[in-house]
Amino acid sequence: MTDVPCPPELPCPPDPEGLRPATLAVRGGQRRSAFQETSEALYLTQGFVYGTAAEAADTFAENIERYSYSRYSNPTTRTFEERLALLDGAEDALATSTGMAAVFTAVAALVRSGSRIVAARELFGSTLTIFDDVMAGWGVHTDYVTGVDLEQWQTALATPADVVFLETPSNPMQDVLDLRAIAELAHEAGAIVVVDNVFATPILQQPLSMGADLVVYSATKHIDGQGRTMGGAILGSKKLIGGRIRTMYRMTGPTLSPFNAWVLIKGLETLPLRIRAQSAAALDLAQWLEQQPGVASVRYPFLDSHPQRELAGRQMSAGGSVVTVTFESEGDGRETGPSGRSRDVERTFAFLDGLRVIDLSTNLGDAKTLVTHPATTTHMRVPAEQREAMGVMDTTVRLSVGLEDVEDLREDLARALEARRG
Ligand SMILES: *Cc1c(COP(=O)(O)O)cnc(C)c1O
Repeated sequence: MTDVPCPPELPCPPDPEGLRPATLAVRGGQRRSAFQETSEALYLTQGFVYGTAAEAADTFAENIERYSYSRYSNPTTRTFEERLALLDGAEDALATSTGMAAVFTAVAALVRSGSRIVAARELFGSTLTIFDDVMAGWGVHTDYVTGVDLEQWQTALATPADVVFLETPSNPMQDVLDLRAIAELAHEAGAIVVVDNVFATPILQQPLSMGADLVVYSATKHIDGQGRTMGGAILGSKKLIGGRIRTMYRMTGPTLSPFNAWVLIKGLETLPLRIRAQSAAALDLAQWLEQQPGVASVRYPFLDSHPQRELAGRQMSAGGSVVTVTFESEGDGRETGPSGRSRDVERTFAFLDGLRVIDLSTNLGDAKTLVTHPATTTHMRVPAEQREAMGVMDTTVRLSVGLEDVEDLREDLARALEARRG
């Protein structure tokens, strides 16, 4: 896993063999400098100097491995990559400036004009734009399937494909897709399977162990988890990461800044703790919300009412931090109210505006509990019919549960439910 040899005079990173995730999250990939600092060092440097002209020549000829330029690699960024790779059970990783840089770099490196992508329809909006606009313009065709429908995958993958792309659980309706079954079909079709694992995080789900070839993250979400920096990562085998993906990465420059890498290293230290706590609070609130008057349905992977509850239990070790709630639409829901919006939207806005602790924000995975109305924000450009076919109604809200006292969150939600009833 190390790309730079550990100099004999310095402490090496701990041998990760046999260490558990909580330990790896705190210690994985750390290489102390000669100062023997406790915390990970922050190497804010663009470049690196050579002792001799021959060393520079040997570096460029790739006769020796060492740091040369931070667009390629940097010791702080490398610690983040190694720590995340250990948590994911990946051989290698590349850290990117944002989640979208990870999605784009991975996919762009795997396709050529004439390539074919098969993707689940339930994807992050910007990913859909990359496929439908950018990739389409380059002669790369994408066929979409309904992610939970294995028959659709089977039909689509009866024809050879280059890339299969999916998210599970999906945003915002939390469909749980069968990773093992889809990966098997994809491999028969000759495709490389890329999984956006943002919702589950490496703590709850390890797609590489279930047949995925690459995992991508927005580290902006749970990995930072405290609203500070953007970031992302691509993970997989040494062979896949070290081939076209590494060339694309090094030459086009989606690199993560060392400063942000350092923030994310510190984020990883508390990731297992945060995810467990946020998942426990999310399940508690999901079960409680299901019982509240005016709530039509609650989507959460570990709720007994979830249509893929059994699959979620096999693929994930907890349900994650996001709860999706759909309120009842009352008879005249589509009629326009005093604000010019539909009555359904007005009543849902009354709920959102009735919250005092929970913030309105389209982000997720944060220590602060956040709520968003997908129909008028993240999914406003999806035509209403298509949106509703996905289950995203005018009365649907997505709650990202944070680290506050769960009783304060419950009281806040109860207050907002009352405001919604008017
Ligand atoms: C946020 C998000 C992304 C994009 O990440 P950025 O860091 O905002 O670029 C991609 N996929 C999913 C599922 C996300 O939630």
